[in-house]
Amino acid sequence: MISKKDIRALTKEQLRDFFVEQGDKAFRGNQVYEWLWQKGAHNFEDMTNLSKATRSLLEAHFVINHIRVDQMQRSSDGTIKNAVRLHDGLIVESVLIPTASRTTACVSSQVGCSLDCKFCATARLKRMRNLNADEIYDQVVAIDNESRLYHGHPLSNIVFMGMGEPLMNYNNVIKSIEKITSDEGLGMSPKRITVSTSGVPKIIKKMADDEVRFNLAVSLHSAIDEVRTKIMPFNETFPLRDLREALEYWYEKTNRRITYEYVGRN
Ligand code: SF4
Repeated sequence: MISKKDIRALTKEQLRDFFVEQGDKAFRGNQVYEWLWQKGAHNFEDMTNLSKATRSLLEAHFVINHIRVDQMQRSSDGTIKNAVRLHDGLIVESVLIPTASRTTACVSSQVGCSLDCKFCATARLKRMRNLNADEIYDQVVAIDNESRLYHGHPLSNIVFMGMGEPLMNYNNVIKSIEKITSDEGLGMSPKRITVSTSGVPKIIKKMADDEVRFNLAVSLHSAIDEVRTKIMPFNETFPLRDLREALEYWYEKTNRRITYEYVGRN
């Protein structure tokens, strides 16, 4: 029996190669890629411009591990909260936040979280696993669809501020943003995307070196180490001195401003 792989883990090139290996034309890979990423197909049967034989071939080799919105709650102010079921049954949350000028998706990057911020409900769940890039991308697509349906326009902004610390899942977050911003994905501007972090100095420097083009927000909550450590115990490992140095490095390299989130008291 062939063990089935998630087809969305394949690049367009790998899909083209697959079809060539099967004695078919490489461009078939482009068609499938378009179904997966631009048309958001949830199963192979939906790929109606492929022959039945091609759809069966895909079915025999691959699965599409798509997320499913298990429960959607809509408030009177237009906010929508999704409980999202992953292929292995785990649940994360994503939220659509409407204001007069923008519609923002708040998405999760991990199931649970390894950090222990005292103000945060996710901290109680502990980290179970990282989301892969597709699972992050799917949350954005689901909210974009809801925005069009209930608010009459597409999503305008994205914040990585749901469950998990995005910089602890850096590679997959970056891959999801590449997909969100590519013409073969949603074609959104990186300027409309903000990654919110509790502050992992090494990764902030790496992001600067990688010349990322999205925005950065930092949960500061206090500018005094002792106070911040009480709110965010993680601060003991990465004290404010290291965080400040990393943020200065970010600013020097990118010239992009940083937003600080602050609810603590000094
Ligand atoms: S890093 Fe974010 S998700 Fe994790 S415990 Fe802190 S606030 Fe919660």
